[in-house]
Amino acid sequence: MKRLLACSILTALAAASATAGDAQTPVFDPHYLSEQVKTLASDAFEGRGPATAGEKRTVAYVISQMKAAGLQPAGALKDGKRSWTQPVPLGRFEITGTPSFSLTMDGKSEPLTQGDQIAVRAAQDGSTSVDIANAPLVFVGYGVKAPERNWDDFKGVDLHGKIAVALINDPDFETGQGDFGGKAMTYYGRWTYKYEEIARQGALGLLIIHETAPASYGWPTVKNSNTNTQFDIVREHPAEVHSKVEGWIQRDLAVQMFKDAGLDFDALKKQAQTRDFKPVTLKGETFSAKFNVDASVITSQNILGRVKGSQRPDETVFYSAHWDHLGVGEPDATGDRIYNGAVDNATGTAALLALGKAFAHGPKPERSVVFLNVTAEEKGLLGSEYYATHPLYPEAKTVAVINMDAMDPHGPARNFTISGSAKLGLLDDLIAVAKADGVSYAPDPHPEAGYFFRSDHFSFAKRGVPAISFGSGDDWVDGGLAAGEAADKAYTKDHYHQPSDQWQADWSFTGMAHDLGMLYTLGSKLANSHEWPNWSRDSEFRAARDATADQRK
Ligand SMILES: [Zn+2]
Repeated sequence: MKRLLACSILTALAAASATAGDAQTPVFDPHYLSEQVKTLASDAFEGRGPATAGEKRTVAYVISQMKAAGLQPAGALKDGKRSWTQPVPLGRFEITGTPSFSLTMDGKSEPLTQGDQIAVRAAQDGSTSVDIANAPLVFVGYGVKAPERNWDDFKGVDLHGKIAVALINDPDFETGQGDFGGKAMTYYGRWTYKYEEIARQGALGLLIIHETAPASYGWPTVKNSNTNTQFDIVREHPAEVHSKVEGWIQRDLAVQMFKDAGLDFDALKKQAQTRDFKPVTLKGETFSAKFNVDASVITSQNILGRVKGSQRPDETVFYSAHWDHLGVGEPDATGDRIYNGAVDNATGTAALLALGKAFAHGPKPERSVVFLNVTAEEKGLLGSEYYATHPLYPEAKTVAVINMDAMDPHGPARNFTISGSAKLGLLDDLIAVAKADGVSYAPDPHPEAGYFFRSDHFSFAKRGVPAISFGSGDDWVDGGLAAGEAADKAYTKDHYHQPSDQWQADWSFTGMAHDLGMLYTLGSKLANSHEWPNWSRDSEFRAARDATADQRK
């Protein structure tokens, strides 16, 4: 997932060998990075889709490169010995045949076309068939229940047997000020949260009203990511987190539905931005759905290598990056069907291998350093979610997670960023390392897009583990902000999640090589200290971390 936030660093390329201000900082080789990305993003890897031939090839290749880098296997125990991988069982859910959806108003039924007016995911609650006839519709505002903010959109309404309808993002996105971080998105603004909350509320389902600005993406993204095959980690009680109908509807349809029920969409939206909002039934209107689901379990792999700590091996610093991309899919205009994922995320995987090599060949760290190459990020952060729920090294003694997703393959920049707005000691440490190197921190320019929740560090963050996802800077040494921003835009528009995200011969990888120096220094400092970074006092992730404080004495 994840666009290129920006690209990164360096005041002058000539300073590259002395970057990160530490005599012990290894020099990262742009050519090594380029070759790794070229290989991982080649057609032979078939777009690195989980549980495909492309996965087999990818996993074998990454293991071979971790071995060559000098890492030790750090995956699941097999016959008392660490293997290179952690098996990740994933539920796979697909709607079979053409699903049927309709709205009924005063006895008159109107069919809704999947992918056009509505986009409903294959049910993940354990149902193999969904058959809902004339369920009442209830507008629940932003669908948020946040006790610590004294906010409850549900007000005790009984949603059993009903379909909820909700807005995307959080209640203060449009006004820009309020209890949910203003324009920045809290987790309450994410559709993943809304689905989870609606399942807790016991509703039959949720239809999220798509609006481009608060969603931060257009309808095609909603359509593409909801009408294809769905994946989830295998859960014991899936209905606790998934209702039967999880979908989106187009804004125009929502406005019409409200109008037909004698309601004004814009007026109700305004109400939903206040604490006093109460759920509103769309009188006289009902929703029907009928579809079959093919559910199966596949097994994918996380890949783990490690440099064991010399003094405190049970304390672990993590670097992470996802290896998966979208595999083989719909052809683009040129007929290309392979989604190579060069930037997203062959770059992160190459970075992980380069860092592994540097640690394996450098001075032995006091704490252990694990290199975690996760699967199924593109399917909803599932590899990292699985690792975080089945940790191989104690989470309480996981010092920090430094995630890399979609790094910029071009030249160096004078700044760097992280995904989303977050306040934590780990970021302060990175800012200090970068500053010594003449590189400044540029906060995520679009915290409302919720990027904090869209890469693998989040699976750790929500369990309290200090975690950030590094983003390359956009103030290029060569060309400044104009060049960096133009490249960022071009990537998002022309290559992000498209078959054209392919390795380019003119990519210098010098920016990435520089940034890896900073990330190495950050990890090395943590791995050679007694420091336990934490979240800021007002962070929603602080309490989870503090709960295990006694294990870090
Ligand atoms: Zn990614």
